[in-house]
Amino acid sequence: MSQTYEKLQPYLDKSQALGAALALFSWDNETLAPKGALERTAKIMGTLSMELYNTIMNPEVRALLVELREADDLTAIEAKVVKDLWKQYEQMEKIPPEEYQEFSELSAQSGAIWAKAKQTNDYSVFAPTLAKVIEFNRKFAGYRAKEGQKLYDVLLDDFEEGFTMEKLDAFFGKLREEIVPLLKKITEKGQVVDKSFMRKEYPIAKQREFNQFLAEYIGFDFNIGVTGDAEHPFTNGLHNRDVRFTNHFHEDNLESAIFTTVHEGGHGIYEQGVSDEISETPLGGGASMGMHESQSRFYENIIGRSEAFWTPIYGKLVETFPEQLAEVDLDTFIKAINYAEASLIRTESDELTYCLHIMIRYEIEKRIMDGSVEVDELPQLWNQMYEEYLGVTPPTDAEGVLQDVHWSMGSFGYFPSYALGNAIASQLYNQMLKEMNVDELLLAGNLAQIKNWLKEHIHQYGQLKNTDEMLIATTGEPFNADYYVAYLKEKFTKVYGL
Ligand code: ZN
Repeated sequence: MSQTYEKLQPYLDKSQALGAALALFSWDNETLAPKGALERTAKIMGTLSMELYNTIMNPEVRALLVELREADDLTAIEAKVVKDLWKQYEQMEKIPPEEYQEFSELSAQSGAIWAKAKQTNDYSVFAPTLAKVIEFNRKFAGYRAKEGQKLYDVLLDDFEEGFTMEKLDAFFGKLREEIVPLLKKITEKGQVVDKSFMRKEYPIAKQREFNQFLAEYIGFDFNIGVTGDAEHPFTNGLHNRDVRFTNHFHEDNLESAIFTTVHEGGHGIYEQGVSDEISETPLGGGASMGMHESQSRFYENIIGRSEAFWTPIYGKLVETFPEQLAEVDLDTFIKAINYAEASLIRTESDELTYCLHIMIRYEIEKRIMDGSVEVDELPQLWNQMYEEYLGVTPPTDAEGVLQDVHWSMGSFGYFPSYALGNAIASQLYNQMLKEMNVDELLLAGNLAQIKNWLKEHIHQYGQLKNTDEMLIATTGEPFNADYYVAYLKEKFTKVYGL
């Protein structure tokens, strides 16, 4: 190890420890902590966060990084750690501290204001705050922009390195051209699938039992992982030997918890698969939001909604709920879990229409960032685009422009990663099919080989490589949305007999 890097190591170790402590607190807050504790715990977390920030952002570390950027004796992992930390410095140093402070104060309140506006279905409650959040985002992006770089491109790069509007316009353009007409065809066919059996009474204790089995079945390792209950499902972890995800069980909904298990389980398997030498470095998480989402969506949709996946285990589900599923054969179940229908709410939408919800948000964010739409015009623009692309008009703003929390947090540029995740999953799947008979493995209940393939090509690297680098190494080409479009067309043409 280079001597200078050795001097950096204690700072990295401390930031790992603080990061793990914060992860544990946030897990606890969402699962077991008593409600009355939240305020005081928030203060403790604030102190730890500040300490974490100062551990890395200080003159000593900065000086070490300046030296290390010139070093030629670093390992690949060390060099990437230095590169990423330096990028953080560069970004932060361009924003005047007093403006950043102002923005932090605004962010601390904006979530609650948004929640109130949504609850009372009153956009005017949120609009002035949203206008301020947007102003800060545009200003900060302006400070950070390289010469000639557009503001929205600066923000997009934060979430997925190298994915500019030029790339995303092509991606969403393809979706618009191919998926909007496909959805119209499905809607016109008017084939109704009876999903009512999903909403019978399913005792939660029994659901737990099945979902525990399911998580293990797909490859989530309970020796280095644990699950819990929370209002909103999520995955987090302290490191690769302690990965956690939550579920939310509804007594009147069978599929909700099942697809949460395969989705969050996919995130969890990713985190558990990061190699030991990377896990305890700043590169220990997933490569990006989009890559993370590709793994969860791969398990949830590509594998988890397929007939081959359910063939060996559907009997077990029926055994768990013999009365509720007495009349439901495998074929009916598969049709029900692949039902596609235009709807208003992104988080409740199906595999086919999901990407259109994201496309609409992308188009709106583009216009917010180039200043061609005013905050007051957003509800109308939102509704107009839902009508145009999904054929549904939100009756209220709560079910329209106010439905997502992201903008209140200033997370512009985040949404596209959800759709990219689906597309990356399809590209990886296409390659996987060339190397193994996935259906045969699923029918035999052998998911280990699938997990190992993902670990070998994606999981083990953590953040050592970016999305395109891993895609090129694995599939021989950079990101290519054609596989996703082809996958959706083939699947839904078959499901709906078009
Ligand atoms: Zn996810």
